[in-house]
Amino acid sequence: METSILSGLEASKALYSSLESRISHLKDHGIVPGLAAVLVGNNPASEIYVKNKTKKFESLGLKTDVFRLEETVSEDELLSLISKLNTDSEFHGILVQLPLPKHIDSEKVLNAIIPTKDVDGFHPENAGLLSIGKPRFIPCTPKGIMFILKYFNIDLNGKHVVVIGRSNIVGRPISILASLKELGNATVTLCHSGTKDLKFFSKQADVLVAALGSPQFVDSSYIKTGACLVDVGINRIEVDGKSKIVGDVNQDSVTGIASSLTPVPKGVGPMTIAMLVENTVLSAELLLN
Ligand code: NAD
Repeated sequence: METSILSGLEASKALYSSLESRISHLKDHGIVPGLAAVLVGNNPASEIYVKNKTKKFESLGLKTDVFRLEETVSEDELLSLISKLNTDSEFHGILVQLPLPKHIDSEKVLNAIIPTKDVDGFHPENAGLLSIGKPRFIPCTPKGIMFILKYFNIDLNGKHVVVIGRSNIVGRPISILASLKELGNATVTLCHSGTKDLKFFSKQADVLVAALGSPQFVDSSYIKTGACLVDVGINRIEVDGKSKIVGDVNQDSVTGIASSLTPVPKGVGPMTIAMLVENTVLSAELLLN
């Protein structure tokens, strides 16, 4: 079987072109969608993530500022910055790059973001809206997965979607999205570290979402012929002394057995950034309504 590649680069380009008219409509009303990115400390991976996100905003003519705080910043100082950004009309979205230093309660900080600027979709109010099928801001990675599947005409209606991983950022929200009647209408099984006999479930998947954070974990023994594989993982491994990024799927092992798969890199990753832009545009649009 030929395994087709579901390119996140291609799908994200389509999304960016569809955003052009929405952005110019907002600009006609004097609104430039703006993102405030809060970066605490000098974690190299966080630096790269924030740079990639803000670069995209700049390339689209959107406003973005990075608020850098020392690793030693107090929780109160960080909360006071969030409080200022909550009322700053130049920013329609606030992103706090995770992880935060250990002395800071991440949940408290994320919950301090006003839900109408929570473009990451992590606030309990937005998570609650999603769980009752009335989403406002959907977390960017699961929203990107839904977009890429739709873009490549992979219909979830009536299919069995199996998700590996139950994080609030990826696994849980994608399982809700795929099950919603209007969006996915799939039958969903959510697997996690407590699942006994994972292969029993993963082999039933028409669409398997691997979001467990374990390099090349899913090989051909976990899937059925013709499955569509969504590889969410971003794992850094050493190969012949060189550092390399791989997903949660062993792509060589599944090629020829899966009907399609998202590559790593250039699969789900670009979609996550694209959806952050989309959520920020959406937040600005809410001002017009
Ligand atoms: P997490 O560590 O918060 O959650 C991992 C989940 O996988 C947990 O629920 C755990 O129960 C489950 N799990 C772990 N090992 C398992 C096993 N052997 N069998 C069954 N379940 C198992 O991770 P996360 O934040 O959801 O991220 C998952 C992966 O996705 C990571 O590699 C992360 O880097 C990547 N990620 C990528 C993007 C992107 O834009 N592409 C965005 C977010 C996360």
